[in-house]
Amino acid sequence: MTNFKLGKKQIYASSSSGFQSRNMDESPPSLPMDSKYLNPKEQVKAQSKVKLPHGKSSIVLPNSDIDELLECPVCSNAMFPPIQQCPSGHTLCFSCKNKVNNKCPICRKEIGEIRCLALEKLAVSLQLPCTYHNMGCNEMFPYYSKLQHEENCVYRPYTCPHPGQDCSFTGDISELLSHLRDCHKVDLQTGCTFNHRYVKQNPGSVDNCSWTLTLFNCFGHYFCLHFEAFLLGNEPVYMAFLRFLGEESEARKFNYCLEVGGHGRKLKWQGVPRSIRTHHKMVRDSHDGLIIHRRLALYFSGNNQELKLRVSGKIWREM
Ligand SMILES: [Zn+2]
Ligand SMILES: [Zn+2]
Ligand SMILES: [Zn+2]
Ligand SMILES: [Zn+2]
Repeated sequence: MTNFKLGKKQIYASSSSGFQSRNMDESPPSLPMDSKYLNPKEQVKAQSKVKLPHGKSSIVLPNSDIDELLECPVCSNAMFPPIQQCPSGHTLCFSCKNKVNNKCPICRKEIGEIRCLALEKLAVSLQLPCTYHNMGCNEMFPYYSKLQHEENCVYRPYTCPHPGQDCSFTGDISELLSHLRDCHKVDLQTGCTFNHRYVKQNPGSVDNCSWTLTLFNCFGHYFCLHFEAFLLGNEPVYMAFLRFLGEESEARKFNYCLEVGGHGRKLKWQGVPRSIRTHHKMVRDSHDGLIIHRRLALYFSGNNQELKLRVSGKIWREM
């Protein structure tokens, strides 16, 4: 991690400061390292320990050292109070103590009830950059509110909007677009109007996995049109709605309308696209889209054997 800015005061780690960095391991060298509990970075460190220059009363820690100082050697996450400490001064999360059976993963000494207040206080004085600074977030946060910000940071990666079985892909918009194209074979269309036909054999069976997704590129942004079949109570319904590839605040600048019909009847919907930050199931459960009951859908289709719906629509920018 780069870009560190320390809090009000410059932080020094000295050998007399009460807490010890892992580099100042006092454990007898003959003790074997219990490296199976260590994360890969720690394992490398355990093999080749970096010696801090001695003969100085205090040492300014390079930024990455502060980061490492607060990183749990077991789970690699940032540690939060109560930070635990072994008799030799190695630190780890409270919740990771159980995972290592109360044995320090570095020196194997029994971990008692020692809390590392010094490290907790050091953490309070830190101002850290958001984890997503590489993706454009320039904000700095006190250690203990950083995680909260990161959960809502607008630069955090998006999860894949594809409604298929849960896909774990995350990325920025351009990464999402290539992922949707390459891994899910989603069509990308250009223009702000569309006209889609949805055909389904055997419309009597409505399962929850029935859906399609289409991408649109217009006004320099990307939208995805969902078409899903699901049960609303006991009644099978079809639903079409639009999501925006971006933040909710941007999504609100757009409007869209959808139209479906046949045999002289027409159903219309006008709405505001939802951000892909909102899960498609949440949009569906809030009924924020065009809902077509099956009986009407079959009436539009003209027969009961095959569902044939033509959904047309338009996206425009709110003035
Ligand atoms: Zn941990
Ligand atoms: Zn230890
Ligand atoms: Zn951020
Ligand atoms: Zn995906």
